[in-house]
Amino acid sequence: MIISCAYHDERYRLTNMLASYGIKDPVLSAFDNTPREAFVDKRYLAYAYEDRALPTLLGQTISQPSLVALTLQELSLKPTDVILEIGTGSGFQTALLSQLVKKVYSVELLPQLAKIAEIRLKRLRNIELITGDGSLGWLTGSPYDAIIVTAAFTQVPDPLSAQLRTGGKLIMPIGKAEWQELMLYQKLNDGLVALRKISDVHFVPLLGKYAYMAR
Ligand code: SAH
Repeated sequence: MIISCAYHDERYRLTNMLASYGIKDPVLSAFDNTPREAFVDKRYLAYAYEDRALPTLLGQTISQPSLVALTLQELSLKPTDVILEIGTGSGFQTALLSQLVKKVYSVELLPQLAKIAEIRLKRLRNIELITGDGSLGWLTGSPYDAIIVTAAFTQVPDPLSAQLRTGGKLIMPIGKAEWQELMLYQKLNDGLVALRKISDVHFVPLLGKYAYMAR
């Protein structure tokens, strides 16, 4: 990833803020190594290092940095992990994940967004991008050590819990269209168990066969 000097101070401020929220290495260094300005829409460049979600194309968003940091830290990812991300979006979280684990499979429903993410991420060799309905998961890479869903639905789609390994963790915003709870789950022998709520959140809806049906 090419780090531009132009945003050095802004990136430093953001990682300091994340550190004050309790974010530690390796998540903190991943933020330090990832140029968020390369993942935001040109119109919003001035806000690239603000701690807020920003609009991208087609009514979608790039998630708020502190929420992404918390999500990644909660999963206690290991360098040997194989991860599934549903909702590539801008590709920012995918770029962070690629520095924390062995392999990232990331699924994006909208071809236009998937194409842009592919260009941004092409130098990162341990990422496999899939264009399609992530509510079905992605059988090829399963079972996953962790699954991160960055779009919301009322429940975890069945194929996702099926493709998580026993002991693996899953994070997903659960709730109605307007507001949701970012929930942390773990798969035990009897199935998925909710461990706790991480935060109240507002994510875009998860569309697809096991989620809100696409129009
Ligand atoms: N982590 C991303 C967040 C993107 S917003 C970022 O920070 O940029 C959520 C994304 O989920 C959107 O790009 C949306 O198109 C995508 N999405 C919605 N339903 C999906 C589905 N069934 N499969 C894959 N992606 C989906």
